[in-house]
Amino acid sequence: MRNESAIWGLVEAHGPDLIGLSDRVWALPETLYNEYRSCAEHTAMLRDKGFRVTENVAGIPTAVMGEAGAGGPVIAILGEYDALPGLSQVAGIDYPEELEPGGHGHGCGHNLLGSAALLAATALKDWLAETGTPGRVRYYGCPAEEGGAAKTFMVRAGVFADVDAAITWHPDCMTRVDDALSLANTRMDFAFTGRAAHAAASPHLGRSALDAVELMSVGVNYLREHVPQDARIHYAYLEAGGTAPNVVQARARVRYSIRALRLADMMAIVERVKDVARGAALMTGTGVEMTVFSAVSNMLGNGAMERTMQSALDELGGVPFDAADRAYAARIQATLSEADLTQPYRRVGMAPRRDEPLCDYVVGLYPKGEVMIGSTDVADVSWAVPLVQVLAATHAIGTPAHSWQITAQGKAPAAHKGMVHAAKAMARCAEKLFGDRALLAEAQAEHAARMAREPYVCPIPEGVEPPLVPRPTGI
Ligand SMILES: [Zn+2]
Repeated sequence: MRNESAIWGLVEAHGPDLIGLSDRVWALPETLYNEYRSCAEHTAMLRDKGFRVTENVAGIPTAVMGEAGAGGPVIAILGEYDALPGLSQVAGIDYPEELEPGGHGHGCGHNLLGSAALLAATALKDWLAETGTPGRVRYYGCPAEEGGAAKTFMVRAGVFADVDAAITWHPDCMTRVDDALSLANTRMDFAFTGRAAHAAASPHLGRSALDAVELMSVGVNYLREHVPQDARIHYAYLEAGGTAPNVVQARARVRYSIRALRLADMMAIVERVKDVARGAALMTGTGVEMTVFSAVSNMLGNGAMERTMQSALDELGGVPFDAADRAYAARIQATLSEADLTQPYRRVGMAPRRDEPLCDYVVGLYPKGEVMIGSTDVADVSWAVPLVQVLAATHAIGTPAHSWQITAQGKAPAAHKGMVHAAKAMARCAEKLFGDRALLAEAQAEHAARMAREPYVCPIPEGVEPPLVPRPTGI
């Protein structure tokens, strides 16, 4: 390891406790605003480590915030702990086997994500106290990243209003600074209501909601040619109206996900899709109700933050994997396709390598690779404050996101090493920002200039609230 930083020793000192937290959260997979046990584990750890704790952040019972230090600036470290449905998997093996039939699983590594973020925050808390540096570090435990857009609701509620900069990470198969590309995404439901009738005896009396959903699909499929190239529009039938072909279906519902690289483009496409739905209703004599239930923006980069994180990563070097880590990762790679194995290299513009189960190096800043992007609610925080996201290698190169292979690798020694490494990168980046007010001012000026060009409009309409679920008894 090069240029040993004092803050890395603080990360290592708390490492075992936070690795324990990660493993406990792995074993409590909870989804979409149900993260009561995982949030309670994070809250207990924050108290244990001496943070001032705020629960029920933004009115979300599974969101928590811990703060330490005094005065300004305020640097936020963002964590997550939600799981995915249907990805239950036994840990440490190289074949699919559910731990709990039909159960949830940490198929995106958020057990590691939240724990490493809290680890970085804890090291920073000690560092602020030991060095007497003015400033506060905040850990934000954010639920429901997968489909719930909790951070967008948290931004709308103003919980980042007095934050100066934010840092986060995501488990990955490569170690690098994220290049801040993500699609703005609105998820909304269209519920059509018609009139039931006997499909043979009196079809003229019926008004088919299913016809409306099908015509809406046709209309949207024609729309695809006339939207920006980066737009993505997907749909899933939630309710087809029933199983009897001799009934004119009176009710049908379809869910749309509408994405684009720019928030403003996405908002415009949402309006056009709504017009298509109205058209389908008009053609079929049905009514339509349109409800947005979650939405996120596209991610904004910040050059000053990204360069700072890259310098932290370059000092740190790659994740120190060993032969046993590589051997397990190679067994996982044996379950992957050729396309899976080459995709991470294409993404960062590198020639695919053979016999490289794990990434033990740091990829350079802004690799010129192929664009392959999804959506995340981290993006909305990037519109609120200067933000950087680092990726750290925690699993075999080529492991697809949201897969049983991620769940399987989520408690492995390699995952623990990647998690501690991510915490070191985040802590070092924050240390640099706390220690250099000019650097922080540069990041903020860049953010302010970006906001002046295109102000933030929350993609979740007024009045739409997060789909909270009640607290189970005994938690
Ligand atoms: Zn994720």
